[in-house]
Amino acid sequence: MDCLFCKIVKGEIPSNKVLENDNVLVFHDIQPAAPVHVLIIPKKHIASMNDAADEDFALIGEMHRAAQQAAAELGISDSGFRLINNCGRDGEQTVFHLHYHLLGGARLGALTG
Ligand code: 5GP
Repeated sequence: MDCLFCKIVKGEIPSNKVLENDNVLVFHDIQPAAPVHVLIIPKKHIASMNDAADEDFALIGEMHRAAQQAAAELGISDSGFRLINNCGRDGEQTVFHLHYHLLGGARLGALTG
């Protein structure tokens, strides 16, 4: 399958990893939008949040745990962070392999419409 993040999981494309376990990988975004900007992905290919099946939600829970662990690893637990999933066209999703953005290291501003 021609999926960028599957290639990162397989090591065919290099990434700057923060943490990894059997099911989840966390690595630095190539174009950071904040002082800390990492991506949390499942190793399993799921195209988007819309494509998650019932059996995928335990894995999505693991992604949240990895986000909490990565925040601690990166020193932003106390200051706080933002966890974002872009889904589909209106969500401006560009890579169709489910991922969360973990952003922090600065005040990010209030969300506006
Ligand atoms: P999306 O727009 O789909 O929510 O987020 C995709 C993210 O993947 C973007 O923030 C983009 O900078 C990041 N990205 C795209 N290609 C690569 C890559 O080859 N390596 C890494 N580390 N991040 C990438």
